[in-house]
Amino acid sequence: MSDNPLHDIIAETMELVKQSAHPKTGMLTVSPEVAELYEQIVAQVAPGMSDPVASAEASGGNAASPDLVSLAAEVSACKKCGLCEGRTQTVFSDGSPNADLVFVGEAPGENEDKQGIPFCGRSGDLLTDIIVKGMKMRREDVYICNVIKCRPPNNRDPLSAEKDACEPYLIRQLELVQPKVICALGGHAAKTLLKTDESTGRLRGKWHFYHGIPLRVTYHPAYLLRSPGEKKKTWEDIQEVMKVMSGELTPTP
Ligand code: URA
Ligand code: SF4
Repeated sequence: MSDNPLHDIIAETMELVKQSAHPKTGMLTVSPEVAELYEQIVAQVAPGMSDPVASAEASGGNAASPDLVSLAAEVSACKKCGLCEGRTQTVFSDGSPNADLVFVGEAPGENEDKQGIPFCGRSGDLLTDIIVKGMKMRREDVYICNVIKCRPPNNRDPLSAEKDACEPYLIRQLELVQPKVICALGGHAAKTLLKTDESTGRLRGKWHFYHGIPLRVTYHPAYLLRSPGEKKKTWEDIQEVMKVMSGELTPTP
């Protein structure tokens, strides 16, 4: 038993579903009422993962793993730090759980808190441009998450205690997604993942490793909106990321 009853209920349900599924196809037939309920629950606990069947068809097998769905459910009930008090909802992830590339940001802002989707405000538009116009990829095909899953009041910087409380969820997300490359957006993501106090300016421009996975640090989109002159450097970082994705470059620790 975990200390979160919701987690246990979901884990048990997943186990039951696995046992009842067709042995060859893995399919399970449920009533329309149950299907509708299921969609509502998934949309709530893991926006961006809703309708796994349709999204799997649309994007070549991007269905969320049961582990990520139950982790999202666990996060949605989390009260490990004071940020739970002010949230409208938790913000878990967007994009594909099978992605080769994970972007890690800082914390939800106002729009993210309202919609339950990371990077869906002005910073998010810039991130989407980087992915779509710069990398020529679809936003649905990368995985996007934050160090902190609940909005800090007035978008203040997250405190160390809050980052420590929330980090296990990020660690688990990265273990489950197992990307080829990680891109840390800004200092909070970089410092949390790399356990360093160095500035983004000093960390960017070279390869780091997170549990053996190549990690590139670049500026946070919110910073780029304030300092557009730095976009050129982010583009250099992103081009390095693309080289690893294409296999042209294999950084070694
Ligand atoms: N800034 C972040 O770091 N994350 C978001 O999800 C939105 C803005
Ligand atoms: Fe839990 Fe993270 Fe939200 Fe704090 S910020 S309540 S640790 S999910």
